[in-house]
Formats: sequence, structure tokens, C-alpha cells
Amino acid sequence: MPDFDVAVFGAGIAGTAIANELMKRGQQVLMVDPNVSENAPGPPGALVNPATGRRAKLSWQAEKCYDTLKKQIDEISELTGRNDLISETGVIRPAISAKLAENFREALTKYDWPEGWIEWLEEDQIREMNPHVAENQGGIHVKCGYTVYVDNYQNAYRKYLRLKGVECRYEHATHQHDQENDLFTISFKSGEQITAGKVIMAIGYKIKNEADWSFLPLDFVKGQIVHFETIKPLNWDHAISARGYSIRRGERELTVGSTYEHNFEGLSISEKSYDQILKKLELMLPKLTDKVKKVAQMAGVRVTTQNRLPVIGEHPEISKLYVYTGMNSKGFLFSHYVGELLADHILDQTDIPDELNLARFLEKN
Ligand SMILES: Cc1cc2nc3c(=O)[nH]c(=O)nc-3n(C[C@H](O)[C@H](O)[C@H](O)COP(=O)(O)OP(=O)(O)OC[C@H]3O[C@@H](n4cnc5c(N)ncnc54)[C@H](O)[C@@H]3O)c2cc1C
Repeated sequence: MPDFDVAVFGAGIAGTAIANELMKRGQQVLMVDPNVSENAPGPPGALVNPATGRRAKLSWQAEKCYDTLKKQIDEISELTGRNDLISETGVIRPAISAKLAENFREALTKYDWPEGWIEWLEEDQIREMNPHVAENQGGIHVKCGYTVYVDNYQNAYRKYLRLKGVECRYEHATHQHDQENDLFTISFKSGEQITAGKVIMAIGYKIKNEADWSFLPLDFVKGQIVHFETIKPLNWDHAISARGYSIRRGERELTVGSTYEHNFEGLSISEKSYDQILKKLELMLPKLTDKVKKVAQMAGVRVTTQNRLPVIGEHPEISKLYVYTGMNSKGFLFSHYVGELLADHILDQTDIPDELNLARFLEKN
């Protein structure tokens, strides 16, 4: 018998979600991540916004994704006693060009929006909600959209998992498949070794360093964000999304993102990206640009795929080795529903939808 049924590498959005889904199904779970803790720094905010891109299309399996994520957040809040994980602010998407206005109007009826999720706003209604918003031709109000305070959410989530019995180890480890016993040996720097029946790699962009997974045609897109403090308190709390996004936190904080950098070396921040982000702020909230002070600038990497959907499944040659990656730009929204699908597949051999299955890449080769 292995020490653990499953070892999950990575305690980010994907790793915590799959660790949770397996724990809920009665598995003994070990979660390993050398870079985080229950008190780790992280991005101040991210958006859950099911209206994608310039067409404001309803995102993949939006209702299921939305409901499973919300339910999980409520459970984490309840167990950890924290009510600072999200803010149900809604998202305004001002149409800053005639084409966007046309797309957005069309989106209201073209996609099967659940009742109450989205509404059209005329320019004067947007102005009334927020006098700082740039000139526009009306826009949509994604009423169901909300802000996740990523640092709080992830730290609380790891605590939740520990309290629920997941063994959380915030240190470096490696895994090796022992073919003879059909087990994985997890080795820590101290020399300690633990065995696990299955391994799941949910390590974000670091997957690109893993030879076992080099066959996956993933793209890596660096993104930088800037966290600002405003000179005066702001009396609105919604997020804004228009060729960039702005997210509110506290009385005077505003996070603005993001860049899309396809060619990059490391995770350093740059003046060039800062200027690009300032331009995004100017495009969305022109009256605010000279009333903000930069507090922090951060960089991360999105793992992207051609169909903009995650990648899950078992390694084609190494039995019981799985991957959960490719969260693209909607990682939060996807995280739990996709985690459920992967957990069901691992334990009950249910089919993974073709659009998520890593087999979609194998068939082409
Ligand atoms: C600038 C930017 C803005 C974004 N904004 C949004 C947004 O508004 N809304 C949204 O839904 N998504 C957003 N995303 C996307 C979202 O953040 C990502 O999709 C998400 O972080 C991916 O989750 P993940 O768990 O796959 O990877 P990560 O969050 O990167 O987590 C991977 C974890 O694995 C750990 N790890 C790495 N190597 C190892 C190893 N060898 N062993 C063990 N652990 C390891 C890392 O320390 C890390 O904690 C944004 C991304 C960027 C870059």
C-alpha cells in the first residue's frame, strides 16, 4: 500500500482544486509546492468573468463552472471564517468603439446567457455608476462577474485543505515511477521518501521544464499587472474590462492588467510593460491616470492552448501520471468544474470531454 493515494504537485489554482476534489472522494492526498504557504504573497486580484473577449461570448460550460467555483468558495469561507476572498462587484464592459457596441448588443441574444447574468447599459447609465469611465457607446454589465482576492483565496484554500486532512508540504520534491511496484516515490530534499499511487502535475508554467510532458503543444504567455493606490478614495467597486481590466480592492486600491508577452526570458517586470498598462488605464479610466500612484508591479505566466481550454488526462505512456494545466485566462472559472471531471476520470474512469482531453493532441500527431 502506498503512503498516499495521490500526490498533487502544485498548490495553485489547479492543484488546490484537484487536491480538493480527490480528498472529497475519500482519497488520501499529499500536496507539494515549494513556493507557497498558507500566508504567501500573491496577485491582489483577478476576475471571474464569463463574458469572453471582444464578442462577449459566454465562456465554456459557464453555468457549471460558475456554480461549482462559487460553492467551493463558500465552503472555504465557512471553514476558515474568512469573508475577504471575493467581492461580488460585477464587471462593466464599456463599448469603447462602434464595433464593440455592435458585438456586445449581439452577445445579449446570440449566446444563451442565464437569467440575470448580463444586461445592456446606456452610456449615461455607465456614467452614473462610474463617472471616470472613458467615453463609450453603452456597454454590458456582467452582473454575475466578481473579483477574487487571489492571495487571500489561495492561502485560505490551502488552510482549508489542511484542515480537511490533505497533507500539505511546502517544500521541493521530485517523483519517480517505480515500475516494479507500480508506485511513485516522492523524494524530499531532506532525503525523506514517501510513496503515492498516482501523481498529478498541476505546476502551472513550470510544466514546460518537465520532459515527460514536452509533447503537449502548450504556449506560454507572460502577463504583467500593476497595483495602484489612488490619491482619493473611490466610491465604486465594480471591475472594468475593456482591452485590459481594472479591479478594485479596499478604498483606494486599483489593479490594472494585463500585458500579453509571447516572447520572454524570465519573470522580471519592465518599464515598457508599465507604460502599456498605464495606457490601458487611460483607455478605461482616463480621468484617473494622474490620480494614481504605483504600489507594485508583478509578472506571471499563462499556460495557453489553441482552444483556450485546460488540458487534463493521463500520460499516454506512464500509467497513473496525470496532468492538469492550460488554464488560459479563465483559470478561476474553470478550476473546480474541470477538477471534478478529472477526479471522476481518475477514480471512476469516466470519459473526459474531448475538448479538454490531452488525447486531443495525440490524435493529431
Ligand atoms: C497577469 C495574469 C493575469 C491573470 N488574470 C486572470 C483573471 O483575471 N482571471 C482568471 O481566471 N485567470 C487569470 N489569469 C490566469 C490564471 O492566473 C492562471 O490561469 C492560473 O494561475 C493558473 O493556475 P495553475 O494552478 O495552473 O498555475 P499556477 O497558479 O502558476 O500554480 C502552479 C503552482 O505550482 C507550483 N510549482 C511549480 N513547479 C513545481 C514543482 N516542480 N513541484 C511542485 N510545485 C510546483 C508553483 O509554485 C505554483 O504555486 C491570469 C494570469 C496572468 C499571468
